[in-house]
Amino acid sequence: MTSTLPPVPQSLAGRIVVPDDARYERVRHCYVHRGSPAAVLLPETARETAEALRYARALGSVVSVRSGGHGISGRSTNDGGVVVDVSRLDGIRVLDRARRRIRIGAGARWGQVAQALEPHGLAIGSGDTGDVGVGGLVTAGGIGWFARLHGMTVDHVTAVELVLADGKSVRADAEREPDLLWAVRGAGGNFGVVTAVELEAYETGDVVFADLVFDARDAAALIEEWGAVLDAAPRELTSFLTFMPAGPGRPCLAHVAAVYAGEHSAAERVLAPLLRVGPPLRQRAVLAPYSGLVPVSGAPHHGQQQLGATRSGLLDHLTADAARAVAAALESGQVLMEQFRSVGGAVNDLDPAATAYAHRTQNFSLLSATVPELEQALDAHWARLAPHLNGMYLSFDTRRTPDVLCEAFPEPTLTRLRELKDRYDPENVFDRNFPLR
Ligand SMILES: Cc1cc2nc3c(=O)[nH]c(=O)nc-3n(C[C@H](O)[C@H](O)[C@H](O)COP(=O)(O)OP(=O)(O)OC[C@H]3O[C@@H](n4cnc5c(N)ncnc54)[C@H](O)[C@@H]3O)c2cc1C
Repeated sequence: MTSTLPPVPQSLAGRIVVPDDARYERVRHCYVHRGSPAAVLLPETARETAEALRYARALGSVVSVRSGGHGISGRSTNDGGVVVDVSRLDGIRVLDRARRRIRIGAGARWGQVAQALEPHGLAIGSGDTGDVGVGGLVTAGGIGWFARLHGMTVDHVTAVELVLADGKSVRADAEREPDLLWAVRGAGGNFGVVTAVELEAYETGDVVFADLVFDARDAAALIEEWGAVLDAAPRELTSFLTFMPAGPGRPCLAHVAAVYAGEHSAAERVLAPLLRVGPPLRQRAVLAPYSGLVPVSGAPHHGQQQLGATRSGLLDHLTADAARAVAAALESGQVLMEQFRSVGGAVNDLDPAATAYAHRTQNFSLLSATVPELEQALDAHWARLAPHLNGMYLSFDTRRTPDVLCEAFPEPTLTRLRELKDRYDPENVFDRNFPLR
């Protein structure tokens, strides 16, 4: 494939990758989707990002924004359009150790952030995967290993720098553009290209990481029991529960991963109830630095994630009825992964109006996934679960329909976001990931 694009401005020379470039194969796809963009722009500074956006807009083509390429919606690539990829803006700095203020380029990976903060005794939770990019997660939420103790990643963002649709670079913080800061903390993908964020990190030493596998033939009982353990647990405990359906020669398996970030001497007592959620097949607990839980592989993307259809829901508690509905989906063999994450705790300390991520009463997040060919069956199972859900986390869902937006941004959040969208992106340049309009 050769390129017929107009030349980029001199300042972006060497920063554009087109299909006949040897580098193209490494940058065309993201983790979930394969793509064939007409060009991928790789700016190295905020100014170059603004130029890249102007160039992309002048072409009149679709513009995708990419940081780490791990978006589950797979919309950080496209076919025939332009990708503005900020992965080279990956600096990480401690600005003020005493106040725990840090600054991160949107292109850094969260595993790199963990590694860079560790020598300072600091951390910022993100999620369970070190390869996830800063830009995509910090503009949506961030449910990580410290969720119950310290809240969502967005809760710690104090300032963002971004390039708006008109190419202007702005800084949004509590004094300047506070509305924009509010919007970016949950719906950032609709407002501009974030180039850097400032956050208030927290003090962290080694944490206890438990890794447990259970026979999940009775998945419903296991879900209910795990939920009850988390409801009663101190905030220092955050846990994720993942089910893989039965396969040839083995039953359905449940994987419980948990981080206890409190006094080490109390770890055994706090973790013990987790051992009783089902028949254990394997158990292991280690004391580890946080960075050890989120390693970075840096592997190139080639659309390798097969489970390309996902649904997200939040739940207040894991009731028997909700647990049975999830178990039935697993037993059908049509839903190939069910993954719960505990939220609650510090996540719910914030007022729902404090950030565009407004879900501050729920205690669990659920992600159900399958292959695209089974998406209809997934929807049928999801409809049965719907009465038990209370909102959703946009980053875990591949749908784009208006009803999904209403669940992601309950009123009055959605109305406020739409007003700000009119102010900051009236031409709807950033509509790829989820359409606020
Ligand atoms: C294996 C895996 C595990 C995950 N685990 C967790 C988890 O534990 N907790 C959790 O909360 N999430 C988790 N996620 C979801 C993840 O947080 C989101 O998919 C996130 O958007 C990925 O960020 P990224 O920069 O890598 O993605 P990208 O694909 O680069 O971007 C995704 C979208 O974010 C927007 N975006 C990206 N960069 C910018 C930017 N600089 N400025 C403005 N908008 C931008 C764009 O709309 C883009 O389409 C996981 C995802 C994967 C694939």
